[in-house]
Amino acid sequence: MNKKLFVISGSSGVGKGTVLKGFLERNPEFMLSISCTTRSPRPGEVDGVNYFFISKKEFQYCIDNNKFLEWAEFAGNFYGTKKKYINQCLEDGKDIILEIETNGAMQVKKQMPEAVLIFICPPSYETLENRLRGRHTEDEDTIQKRLDEVKKELKAAENFDYRIVNDDLETAITTLESVIKGEMEKC
Ligand code: ADP
Ligand code: 5GP
Repeated sequence: MNKKLFVISGSSGVGKGTVLKGFLERNPEFMLSISCTTRSPRPGEVDGVNYFFISKKEFQYCIDNNKFLEWAEFAGNFYGTKKKYINQCLEDGKDIILEIETNGAMQVKKQMPEAVLIFICPPSYETLENRLRGRHTEDEDTIQKRLDEVKKELKAAENFDYRIVNDDLETAITTLESVIKGEMEKC
């Protein structure tokens, strides 16, 4: 059976991580891809678990040597998914979920048209801003940079296969489950 690759995107603070956590707790057979980033770890984040935290120099080396399946600059930091990592996961027979921003999602779709793209939408801009601020993980400058990306991201959502509104958390998790299960049944 072919293994599937799902891409989840959505604005910073919309609740991607929270929805995915709920999904993965109930569906532990799926694997969440670990990205590389040049941003600093937040308190509690662990190298090799949340991200591979690498230097800008190392990131540039990976770009120059075509190591990334996709990469993007987002709000002042670089993020990327290693080709080798994804190929290994697929070879190991795992269905993978990538949680990445929209430019990266488009790059994945170009290279792997069979990938399924899911966009998580906020119920409103105000809710999104409140969630991002309420998380207390970024300073004001970083929050502004992330909010500046929202319009562009919502525009990109038009190119996704599915859009799920994260208003009530439980509803968002069960909707994601039915989308992913529906796609798995097509295999
Ligand atoms: P993202 O991964 O998209 O940046 P997070 O998962 O970190 O977003 O969520 C941002 C904040 O919003 C967190 O404090 C989280 O607890 C909260 N949150 C997520 N989903 C919901 C929801 N459906 N209702 C209320 N708060 C939510
Ligand atoms: P954060 O700094 O909040 O962890 O992530 C910021 C943004 O970068 C989020 O939209 C997240 O989905 C995205 N992101 C995380 N990893 C990757 C990646 O490997 N590639 C791309 N293009 N975006 C990523």
